[in-house]
Amino acid sequence: MSQIQEAQVLDALRPIIDPDFGKSIVDLGFIKELRVEGEHVSFAIELTTPACPVKSEFERQAKERVAALPGVAEVSVTMTAQTRGGAVGPEREALPHVKNVLAVASGKGGVGKSTTAINLALSLKAAGARVGILDADVYGPSLPLLLGVNQRPVTVEKGGRKSIVPLDAQGLKVMSMGFFITDDSPVIWRGPMVHGLIGQFLTDVAWGELDYLVIDLPPGTGDAALTLTQKAPISGAVIVTTANDLSVIDARKGLKMFEKVDVPVLGIIENMAYFVPPDLPDRKYHIFGEGGGKRVAEELGVAFLGEVPIDTRVVEGGDTGQPIVVHAPDSDVARAFASIAGTVARKLAVLASDGPKVADANITWVS
Ligand code: ADP
Repeated sequence: MSQIQEAQVLDALRPIIDPDFGKSIVDLGFIKELRVEGEHVSFAIELTTPACPVKSEFERQAKERVAALPGVAEVSVTMTAQTRGGAVGPEREALPHVKNVLAVASGKGGVGKSTTAINLALSLKAAGARVGILDADVYGPSLPLLLGVNQRPVTVEKGGRKSIVPLDAQGLKVMSMGFFITDDSPVIWRGPMVHGLIGQFLTDVAWGELDYLVIDLPPGTGDAALTLTQKAPISGAVIVTTANDLSVIDARKGLKMFEKVDVPVLGIIENMAYFVPPDLPDRKYHIFGEGGGKRVAEELGVAFLGEVPIDTRVVEGGDTGQPIVVHAPDSDVARAFASIAGTVARKLAVLASDGPKVADANITWVS
């Protein structure tokens, strides 16, 4: 039997369509290092984000299709990712080595914005991405507590330029206002000082190469949040809300804020959406009502990214520096965050790829 040709392998793979791009993985150039050695075929599939939720499905289909070709005895598939970068706008040069900046916003405090930011960051990291997190919540920096790190970062000097070295916590690069504010910092100079620091956090922190920088924004749409959205080269934003605080007005304000600075809103996340009692795993209580997050998203014409249940382990882990994604990775909450992180990563990849495809991917630009 004549040896299998590379073109035959590509033809076999061509029907595999990336749902985000609506195109074949072959035409998208995802197939790399294709080799045919006798009856052995090997290749890599290079995705646009390591957090791709259809990763294993692609791998399964690719193996199956190539193995079905006559003359193929063995197929080796390596799954890799080259995260696409999409930070846009005039501030792009502020973070040249950061591929994507994801802002996590909320209309009000206390809805789980910081919890969401940290767990999305850790989910992206667990998928294999290089991730940093910037706690820009000037009113209540909570990352030091949530991640169990609190020390003053060191400053290094290179080529006459000073930069702050982010702390490392659970594999994330972390920077927080909290590392610089002491309990006895006079409240009166806290405001201006923290605003100055935020600017520095973007330009003077040695973030290094990152696939994603997650920014935990200050709550609401006041000055602090607005300043940040203007200063940072944000690729996309998510808005966190809760079922008992499903204020369309607040969410709309958030959308308007991002609209002003041309930042695409990737969608809405409903936190604390329902409760499943640990001793009654078949029951699901929508304590604050059902489907509200979805309705608000529909009303505002943005994507609904998913709901995250209530779990007391989120609170316990928050107090001990053990985020639930690390502490209880099999919990429904951790799974929800992982799934939302995957969706967000895909949306960012599509955004980064090029303009016209954005509409196909159902990503909302507020205009
Ligand atoms: P924000 O950043 O919006 O102010 P936090 O992330 O600090 O909110 O969360 C507020 C409180 O709610 C914290 O005590 C946190 O542990 C708790 N919390 C957040 N999400 C959940 C959840 N899904 N289940 C249970 N408690 C949660």
